[in-house]
Amino acid sequence: MPKVYKKHSEESRLNHKIALCKHYNKPLDDIARFWSYVDIKGLFDCWEWKGALVSGGYGTFWHNGKLVPAHRIAYKLYYGPISEGLDVLHKCNNRPCCNFFHLYTGTNQDNMDDKVRANRQAKGESQGSAKLTEQQVIEIRENKDNLSQRKLGKLYGVGQYAIRAILHKKTWKHI
Ligand SMILES: [Zn+2]
Repeated sequence: MPKVYKKHSEESRLNHKIALCKHYNKPLDDIARFWSYVDIKGLFDCWEWKGALVSGGYGTFWHNGKLVPAHRIAYKLYYGPISEGLDVLHKCNNRPCCNFFHLYTGTNQDNMDDKVRANRQAKGESQGSAKLTEQQVIEIRENKDNLSQRKLGKLYGVGQYAIRAILHKKTWKHI
């Protein structure tokens, strides 16, 4: 029979959460309200946001009259202020996650690089509508000065507009 610490646990867990917020210069009830939306689990687990999510899938918290990304607050609470121009990024790729051990700061470019790496397969050849392979797209770009867009299109069995889109990086941006 497992021991049950029910009476004790709610309050001590809340105190623990508040203790985690040593850097955040905000009223304690605000911090407690923040953590009440986070599904705190084990140290290495994702702690998902139980409140509202924005369309990108990030948690969002109503704070001082505006909506703030929840993971950004979680980061600040534990590590302190975020340097100017930096984004808070997820090591776990789980956007609602507010476990500060899964968060790190980086530039938006770092974030995009990670995304491109993660989505390379999904957005490229494996996409159902893709007629070309990555190798062919590279060839098309290499031959843009040797052959007209029309000829390139004929050669690779796609329309001229598809070639133009490739050359202007409107499509196949990740290559
Ligand atoms: Zn996580």
